[in-house]
Amino acid sequence: MAKYAAVAVDAKVDHSRTFTYSVPESLDVRQGHLVQVPLGSREVSGVVFSVIENTELYEVREIIGIVYPEVILTPTQLALAEWISGYYMAPLFESSFVMMPPGLTLTPRVFVSLISLYPSVDLTDSQVEIIDYLASNGRVERSVMEKSLGIHKSSVDTLRDLGVIKTEWVWNKPKTSPRYAWYLELSLPRHELDIILPSISNKTPRQAELLQKLLHSDLQTSYSSIVKEFDRAIVKKLEAKGLINLIKYRVYRDPLAGREFLQDESHDLTSDQRKAIVEIQRSLDSGSPKVFLLNGVSGSGKTEVYMQSIAHAIANGKQAIMMVPELSLAPQTVDRFGRRFPGQIAILHSGLTDGERLDQWDRTNKGESNIVIGSRGAIFAPQKNLGIIVLDEEHEWTYKQQDALPLYHAREVAIKLAALTGSVVILGSATPDVVSTSRAERGVYKKLSLPSRIKRPLSLGGGTRDQNQQGQIVDLRDELGSGNRGLFSRLLVRSIKGALDAGKQIMLYLNRRGSGSLVQCRDCGHTLLCRRCDLPLTYHSETERLLCHQCNYRLLNPRQCPECFGPNIRYMGLGTQRVVDEVFGMFPGVRILRWDRDSSNSQKSHQDTMDSFQHGEADILVGTQMIAKGLHFPNVTLVGILCADIGLFIPDYRSGERAFQLIYQMAGRSGRESDIGKVVIQTYSPSHYAIVSAAKGDYLEFYGREISYRRQHRLPPFGKLIRLSYAHTNNDRCSKIAASLVSDIKKQRDIWGFNEVDILGAAPAYPPRLRGRYIWQVILRGQDPRSLLDKVNIPSGWVLDVDPISIA
Ligand code: ADP
Ligand code: ZN
Repeated sequence: MAKYAAVAVDAKVDHSRTFTYSVPESLDVRQGHLVQVPLGSREVSGVVFSVIENTELYEVREIIGIVYPEVILTPTQLALAEWISGYYMAPLFESSFVMMPPGLTLTPRVFVSLISLYPSVDLTDSQVEIIDYLASNGRVERSVMEKSLGIHKSSVDTLRDLGVIKTEWVWNKPKTSPRYAWYLELSLPRHELDIILPSISNKTPRQAELLQKLLHSDLQTSYSSIVKEFDRAIVKKLEAKGLINLIKYRVYRDPLAGREFLQDESHDLTSDQRKAIVEIQRSLDSGSPKVFLLNGVSGSGKTEVYMQSIAHAIANGKQAIMMVPELSLAPQTVDRFGRRFPGQIAILHSGLTDGERLDQWDRTNKGESNIVIGSRGAIFAPQKNLGIIVLDEEHEWTYKQQDALPLYHAREVAIKLAALTGSVVILGSATPDVVSTSRAERGVYKKLSLPSRIKRPLSLGGGTRDQNQQGQIVDLRDELGSGNRGLFSRLLVRSIKGALDAGKQIMLYLNRRGSGSLVQCRDCGHTLLCRRCDLPLTYHSETERLLCHQCNYRLLNPRQCPECFGPNIRYMGLGTQRVVDEVFGMFPGVRILRWDRDSSNSQKSHQDTMDSFQHGEADILVGTQMIAKGLHFPNVTLVGILCADIGLFIPDYRSGERAFQLIYQMAGRSGRESDIGKVVIQTYSPSHYAIVSAAKGDYLEFYGREISYRRQHRLPPFGKLIRLSYAHTNNDRCSKIAASLVSDIKKQRDIWGFNEVDILGAAPAYPPRLRGRYIWQVILRGQDPRSLLDKVNIPSGWVLDVDPISIA
């Protein structure tokens, strides 16, 4: 049996640190167990990462107990947790927590009770009080006693150490637990029952009726349906007589329950699809699995490639994880998988009830779901025999965890997990992340492409350019020049009128992220940029200043545009409501639906809005990012992008990429089923490459421009970024702490000679204040910023983000 264990504890410690504990004779501690251990003066939970024979440490403390009898993490999961913790500089415990079964309780309640009433030691007054209290109350929760007596913790500890009282840990029942149901079954064969039924009928007619009912139902009858009709006592009596059995079985709460799946459609593959599938299948069979980047416009048949690749893996006894950015936005995907793979699917995403999540997780853990479909966290689904992982829309930002440790990216975790399990990875997108395309170009990923839409094959050109989408760019500066101060250009107004007259539908898209503080000249379109970083400056009303959120460069708010000397400097800021008002003004009586994060908080109303637009209950849909996602509205022939600049000038190196993706996606909503689709893109920056390429639907052109910008500024993939942020209610304090970390990092950089690493900041983050706390940030940029950071002693309170999704 193991003598020692390396345990990752649930406490603030250095990121990849475990502690060594000895294993008492009485415990069979194994790798992957959740255990209870002493740490300082506390007792905490921890995960056993390894069991070891020897230790060189002189003094080791003992493991107190095993929390759950079964191990809760497999060796593969532990290895993955170790990688996440090391790579993302996140605590080891948190890094394994993401893989633990849902509903696990980690913090116990502590109970105290009296062992000896008359200890042979001198007692303080408060100790006497404690003994009296326990003598009259029996076993009580420690916190309750401490509160009601108003005593200090140390008196309780002393009594425990003296052996006068004892403390015990009790775990709460998990918040959710499996659901069980009962069914009834006759315990005698029919012919025997027929013989005794008449005599039962005489004495206890109701009992006989129940037996008759069971006799005439073919299947097992559920207890709950019986007790609607019969008294519970009758069931009990029959059971006591040995005439029926009550059998307990596990019921899985199923988020797909009640959903009807249509018959699956089958297709002859296009030759591009066949090529892709053959490559992927060969890789699945080869034992040296690869990462594929599947680049194809929407409607090019990617999902069909995923499904056939997954089917091949399943046929070989393997299982799959199928990831989508946001499950609520992908009902069609779930539908299609449900049809193709009936009964083999589990769903894991944040919108499930706790009970549903537990059941879906348990089924998967038992090996019963061949395919787990879900969002970011589904990468941690306990698939036992993983063979393939798919990330659809791999460029989406929701794949990066941003609000809780570890700050992992599901794509990188997927690739690591695939390496650990020998699985194939497929990354699919019409507009892949620039870093992904660059990896594919360098041969790190294997590139596959589906160049054209299936439903409307195109004869023109090749590459991944989507010829269906040809956007018209409108220069808003010209509109202003000719006296139009509204939100809508003359072209867009004409187009709306045309679509309405033709009985078609319209989508108007307004990007709201980053609106409100960007500073731009309305006459020439000039956006005020930082002299040092080329990133947009933002306006801060408190100080009347413009600020660079990367380097902290400040500028007094100018009265004139530094470019054209015009007086019309303004701050961007628009809401969907204002759009709706202006449309009503121009087209009274038109039917408008509004859809954004504010107007549709619940998933239900999101679905409702979508359905009602789809059913033609409105002419115009006005919305933000959410309406850009892969939805399919066949009757939409006009998409208007009201101000493409918003979002383009967020002070972040990835704002160009993000703006391109959104405009491209949005433009793809128009004319899905017909040839008259039209896209109008309004902008003050008509020559910005992200807008020009998006209007043309030309991903490769965009990529070419973007990658050279990245190269020039040593941004990913040409350099790595690490973002450190610190939040505090006091701005001065926050800035001082940030400055002191910067000087520490600089000192280490000079000592160790990491000259290639740039240290940007300290500067206020963007937005500078969140939930009442100011945030300051420092960004490290270079080939190997990590090695420098490993030399720095980072004070607690700093949040480290390796490969941040944005540095705004
Ligand atoms: P993507 O995932 O790239 O958006 P899909 O797989 O959803 O593309 O395919 C778009 C549409 O074309 C779907 O309705 C799908 O059923 C259909 N489809 C896919 N492959 C074929 C094929 N080989 N022949 C005919 N239709 C196909
Ligand atoms: Zn700057």
